[in-house]
Formats: sequence, structure tokens, C-alpha cells
Amino acid sequence: MSDKDVKTEEENMVSDPSDSTDEYEKVCIMCHRPESKAGKMIDLPNNLTICHECMQKSMDTMMKGSFDYSKLMNIPGVQILNMTDLENMVPKQQKIKKKKEGERVKPAFDIQNIPAPHKIKAQLDEYVVGQDYAKKAVSVAVYNHYKRVATDTMDDIEIEKSNMLMIGPTGSGKTYLVKTLARLLDVPLAITDATSLTEAGYIGDDIESVVSKLLAAADNDVERAEQGIIFIDEIDKIAKKRNANQRDVSGESVQQGMLKLLEGSNVEVPVGANSKNAMVPLTTVNTKNILFICGGAFPELEDIIKERLRKRSSIGFEAELKDKYDHDKDLLSKVTVEDLRNFGMIPEFLGRLPIIFSLKGLNEEMLVKILKEPRNAILKQYQKLLALDEVQLTFEEDALHAIAEKAMEKDTGARALRAIIEEFMLDIMYEIPKDDSIGQVAITRAYIEGTGGPVISLRGQAPRQIAQS
Ligand code: ADP
Repeated sequence: MSDKDVKTEEENMVSDPSDSTDEYEKVCIMCHRPESKAGKMIDLPNNLTICHECMQKSMDTMMKGSFDYSKLMNIPGVQILNMTDLENMVPKQQKIKKKKEGERVKPAFDIQNIPAPHKIKAQLDEYVVGQDYAKKAVSVAVYNHYKRVATDTMDDIEIEKSNMLMIGPTGSGKTYLVKTLARLLDVPLAITDATSLTEAGYIGDDIESVVSKLLAAADNDVERAEQGIIFIDEIDKIAKKRNANQRDVSGESVQQGMLKLLEGSNVEVPVGANSKNAMVPLTTVNTKNILFICGGAFPELEDIIKERLRKRSSIGFEAELKDKYDHDKDLLSKVTVEDLRNFGMIPEFLGRLPIIFSLKGLNEEMLVKILKEPRNAILKQYQKLLALDEVQLTFEEDALHAIAEKAMEKDTGARALRAIIEEFMLDIMYEIPKDDSIGQVAITRAYIEGTGGPVISLRGQAPRQIAQS
């Protein structure tokens, strides 16, 4: 045996992070600090690790004459643990990803590689139908945001954070737009509902849990999380109550609580769990470079806008056009910060969301496009499924309009489309694979409306309409 093979017992116990191929940091079972903070860990049986400091404290206590458990309990952060209970107690999801040696914190894009706004928009166009203004606004904001992250300008002209507020009816594509964006940019994304957020101490998720979610989406990689996107939906639900008699305990204080996050601050978040407790390790995430996008339907905001516009027009020549705005489909795009304040958003909150834009409610034409045009359009998905059975699926243009009309009645935007299609495609997907001779299926308006059947063609024969079952 050479000298090199002989290691002292202590060397064997102390793990060397550099020769571990594991990408996750070790966390002390006593104080929950990760290796990057507490220093090298000592390996214990059952995959547990403890930092030197806690080990020392435990030893000191034991060495002082008789072993006094009460003293051990007096050490802050130290609990009495039964090692056998702890077997596999620290799952991978609770470990913090190690910083690789010598690796600089790399921005999501190099300054040269941030795609220009028109390129980001062109990519979004492939997935998101219509909403041109929103796509443009998002592309520019994201471009500026990541440019800011990449340059990390700390000189006298500091580029402001491009947090956004998106206003648009349900099912108009707010969430879809953000999801598509995050996928294209390859950054982690966390989606939360503002209604689930409460001030710390109340029942519900505290505000910092959104950062925890992002960390999970980034595979517990703090650096990646710090350049991610957090989408907070239903933000209108945390508006201050407009009725002054009612004491408002939730909305306004949640808005207050979010200010620091939006602006950029260090947040201690639990790793691999939603709430802080004794068994969960903590890590610090800085939100300075996290892009926050808030979205909401803001019902009744149209009335507020209308009222403001009316007041203005009641003076002077336009006075007679009082109901001019009643049928204006594009009212939301005329929103101002003042309107949002009247709605119940506090000025400090709005001040941290400098980019405000709206999405349009979808009309029938747009719904038809959503059915067939996006890269992963629902129709294309069904066509692909049937193509695997060597059956060609087609939809008559009129049938698509029938589907869109049905969806319009439900008033939930594009959300209704999938449910409607799934309902009538069920029979098709069930019946067609039964019969090998079927080569083509055409969906007709009559089939959608329940007055007829699809047109079926057998391989090598003329098409024939199937009677409604
Ligand atoms: P919301 O505005 O309520 O967040 P979503 O983004 O969740 O609406 O939209 C629901 C679904 O409708 C999406 O998953 C997407 O498939 C589809 N959709 C909505 N708007 C569009 C759009 N403009 N282009 C393509 N698909 C859309």
C-alpha cells in the first residue's frame, strides 16, 4: 500500500466537495446551512452530513463531564435527533445545487446573444395568435431586462427593472404568452395565483413562497432561479376593497408585502418545500434580476376607464357622444395608472410594474386561427395522433367556425376550445381505429352541431357521409 492510499480517519470522514460528482450541495442536519456557507461537511452514516461547527458543539457538550442532554438542547438550532429516523431524510429536492468551481455567475444570455425584440416576437408569433401589441411589449421588455442582467450596469444610469402588468380577459392567452416566452428563452418559470398569497403568519402561502417555487423550477439552482420569471396571475384579486367602510386585511397588505420582491431583495427561502420549518434547509435568493409579470382580468376596470373618458368628453364639443365608449371593444388598451389606482392597486405597487399593457378579448376569427395555426395547435395534435394510424383527419372551414361559435358562447376565451373539441373527437378517436379500411375522416359543421356525421373515406374509395349515431 502506498503512502497515498493511507488516509487518516479524519480525512476519510471529511468529504471533499471537489471530488464528488454529485451536483448538489450537502446540508448540515443540525443548522441546515449548505456547504457553501458552513464549510466542509463531515459525512455521517445514512447519507447525513454535519458541519464542523455543529459537530464541535455537540462534542464539547458531551465532553463536559457527564452527558447532559438539557445542555445540548440549549444550543441554538440544535435538536436531539435519532439517527436511524433520519435515514434518507434529506431528499435530493432539498439540496442546493453547488456552484461549480471557478465558474462565473453567467447571465442567461451574453450581451451579444440576447435575441433582438423582433426575433423574440417572431418566435412568439409561431405560438400565440393575435395579441400583437402585447407580444411587442413583452419582447421589448424582456430584451431590455436581460440586457440589464447581462451588463449588470451599476454606473450612474441604472436601467430600471422591466416588471410587467398584463391586463386581459380570461382565456385571452396571458399565461400562455408567459409560458411560451419562458420556454423560448430557456429560463425557469414559476406561476402562482395571487389569491393564494397571504401575509406571513396567515393561513395560505406567504409571499416568499413564489421564490421558492421558482427555485424548484430551476432545479434548486440558485443562479438559474435568480434569472428566471415569476408570473403572478389573478393580481386583480388583491386590489384594495373600494368600499371604504370595509376594513381590508388581505389585498392591500399582500401588495405591500410584494414591494420588496418586485424591486429586488435577498429572500431566505426553504429548499424543496413551501414553508420554512426545522427540517428544511434554507438558502438565499436575490430577486434583483428576476422578472416579475403580473396578470389579471380586472373586471369592472372597463367601467372605470369609461367613466374617466366620459368625464373628459362631457366638457366641450364631444359632450353629445356620451355612449360612445359603450361598444368600444378596445377600452382596456386605454388604461392608465390612474384607472388602476381607482381599481384598488396601490401606487407603490404600480410603480414597480412600469410596463402595463392589455390583451384583447378573442373574437371568432381569432379562435379559428388558434385552432389551426399555432405550431402546436389542437387540430395538428389530433391530426398527428390519427396519422399514426395512417388516417388523414381534415376539418372543413365551416366546422371550425361552428366550434368557435360554441366557444364564444361560453365566454371563457380560448379555454373553451379544447373542451369542445375533446367532446366530439372522443367518438372519432374511439371508432376510427376499429376499422382498418378507413383512410380519411372529414369533420363537418353538421357533425359539430349534432345534425350529421363526419365524412369518411375508405382507402381507395369515394367519401361517404356517416349517419349520426
Ligand atoms: P389566461 O389569459 O386566462 O391566462 P390562458 O393563457 O390560460 O388564458 O389561455 C388558455 C389556453 O388557450 C392556452 O393554454 C392556449 O392553448 C390557448 N390560447 C389562449 N390565447 C391564445 C392565443 N392568443 N394564441 C394561441 N393560443 C391561445
